[in-house]
Amino acid sequence: MTNAKPRGQSLYEEACEVIPGGVNSATRYVGRPYAFTGADGAYITDADGGRYVDYHAAFGAILLGHNEPLVNDAVRGALDGVDLIGAGVTPIEIEFAKLICSVIPSAEMVTNAMSGSEATAYAIRLARAETGRSLIVKFQGGYHGWHDAVARNVISPPSLAYGMDPVSAGILEQALTSTLIAEFNDLSSVQALFDEHPEQIAAVILEPIPHNVGALLPTQEFVEGLRSLTSSAGALLIFDEVITGFRHTLGGYQSVCGITPDLTTFGKAVANGFPLAGLAGPRSLMSRFTSAGGDVALLGTFNGYPIGCAAGIATVSYLRDNPSFYARTETLGERMRSGLRSIVDEFGFAGQVRGFGSVFVLYFMDAPVLGYRDLMRNDDKAYLEFHRRMADAGFFMLPMSLKRNHVSGAHTEDDIDRTLEASRDVLKGMLH
Ligand code: PLP
Repeated sequence: MTNAKPRGQSLYEEACEVIPGGVNSATRYVGRPYAFTGADGAYITDADGGRYVDYHAAFGAILLGHNEPLVNDAVRGALDGVDLIGAGVTPIEIEFAKLICSVIPSAEMVTNAMSGSEATAYAIRLARAETGRSLIVKFQGGYHGWHDAVARNVISPPSLAYGMDPVSAGILEQALTSTLIAEFNDLSSVQALFDEHPEQIAAVILEPIPHNVGALLPTQEFVEGLRSLTSSAGALLIFDEVITGFRHTLGGYQSVCGITPDLTTFGKAVANGFPLAGLAGPRSLMSRFTSAGGDVALLGTFNGYPIGCAAGIATVSYLRDNPSFYARTETLGERMRSGLRSIVDEFGFAGQVRGFGSVFVLYFMDAPVLGYRDLMRNDDKAYLEFHRRMADAGFFMLPMSLKRNHVSGAHTEDDIDRTLEASRDVLKGMLH
């Protein structure tokens, strides 16, 4: 008889020796030492051979499915050409920029970076330079990356997730006090900040659907109100479409709600798992970058990374040429949501199923779910228990309460139905 440790446990312990906490991003360790060795289509495989239907999707970066051949082939093709030169421009960067300008309604020009955090940092700096003002408004629960300008009220109360507000120590007090917090779907909370700080607010930044707390759906009145409020106050409106962009539609949520933001950030799904993010906006604003002779620094060794651009072109072209993709993932998302709703109704427990398109979330709370404050009634322990038991059954969801789950183009009706069956068993087990 052997007492061999699971390989995942050994790998995790090995990782802890050389990587802080054994993971390269704090939200990757939530309670269990996972180590993964493979991914294909709708599945991920752990180091002990466990296979899971994956709804985590690398926090939403996987949209077409894992290791999608058309994206991987494009990357291989690009590798045979240009890896990274770092001088001038490569044709692939131009092709990618043109493609983005053709699909994002507000995009006249685009620049790209490696991560969504860099994109929002550029956007905020550009907004401050353009307006000559220093304050930024973000919404409670909105996440826009790890940098100082957006470090407040990402997730609170502190009992949630890794539980820190601001998200980090080591941030200058002035950076924190320059970020004002409003309540999502509550225009009066934004108006109050503009009243309190006249001519001091540079921009309002929002996730049009705050998927970092699951799926709060904006009212049309709210997004329209933000547009007119920011315009009349001389502030910029920044749509952070790092999740909503490409996942829900080709043109992002701005094409759903018909509002034109001043600046748009995108990332994650744009390159189906390869590192690429960007900032898009009108020529008048984007020309302020130093690359165009302006005064806002645009710098980055890996900006315009040709390999990422190749993945981005392959992903976005596929989405453009296959409009039925979104109809399909939305149908699968709806199948999941309505199936979960039936289970909630059958067991009669306080559960709320929400989502949009390919995204779904099960909150462990009663209605309503309109704004962030409502989410404070969510039973986080119950969600984490649900996650743990679903993972044991072979279905991997986001291991953090108040986050969302993602259906990809590789999921099938059968995957969804098996997930629902398992959810039913798991919830039944939790309730009895
Ligand atoms: N904006 C939003 C809406 C996000 O969800 C994220 C990441 O989760 C970011 C920005 C930051 O992107 P990245 O993790 O690529 O830096």
